[in-house]
Amino acid sequence: MPAPIGVLALQGDFREHRQTLAAIGVESIEVRTLSDLSKSTGLIIPGGESTVMQKLAVAYDLFQPIKDALKSGMPAFGTCAGLIMLADQIIDGIAGQAGFGGLDVSVRRNAFGNQLDSFEVDLDFKDVAGPAVHAAFIRAPIVERVGDQVEVMSKLSDGRVVGVRQGNLLGISFHPEVTGETRIHELFVSMVQR
Ligand code: GLN
Repeated sequence: MPAPIGVLALQGDFREHRQTLAAIGVESIEVRTLSDLSKSTGLIIPGGESTVMQKLAVAYDLFQPIKDALKSGMPAFGTCAGLIMLADQIIDGIAGQAGFGGLDVSVRRNAFGNQLDSFEVDLDFKDVAGPAVHAAFIRAPIVERVGDQVEVMSKLSDGRVVGVRQGNLLGISFHPEVTGETRIHELFVSMVQR
């Protein structure tokens, strides 16, 4: 591993992502400045609250630099709010909500409503071998439209899409970092090393 993976650390569960990377022996740093970003070989965008993450990214002068880095091919992995930040189109966002974009998908925020605020299920995930992935969903988004260049990585049993990849970008609706699941992080590390 030539350099560490950056974890966007403005808000949300960035510590859990760093613990997951540490569990698979991968070095990471917290990204709060342009200099942190430039030291990172890839970027994890954690779960949290996408609207707050957007505001903080602007306030920390990271919004446009991250957008540009992703566009020029920096590998990135977003979970939950992080997936929302990577989506080109956000449904049910607040006024003025925008992410870094790059994934040609439409993502609906808080798609499961109040009754099903959070739940856990076992999922198949493309390119992840072995037993099913145990996935925790917390006020999770759903991918409602998938562009031509987007690879569907995982679906719920009813067919709704919860994992996508397009080139250098990987986005999922759930939180492997809170259930001790390390294999999706391993998949991302392989995208960084490629
Ligand atoms: N509902 C949150 C949002 O819109 C995402 C929730 C999460 O990351 N667990 O950003």
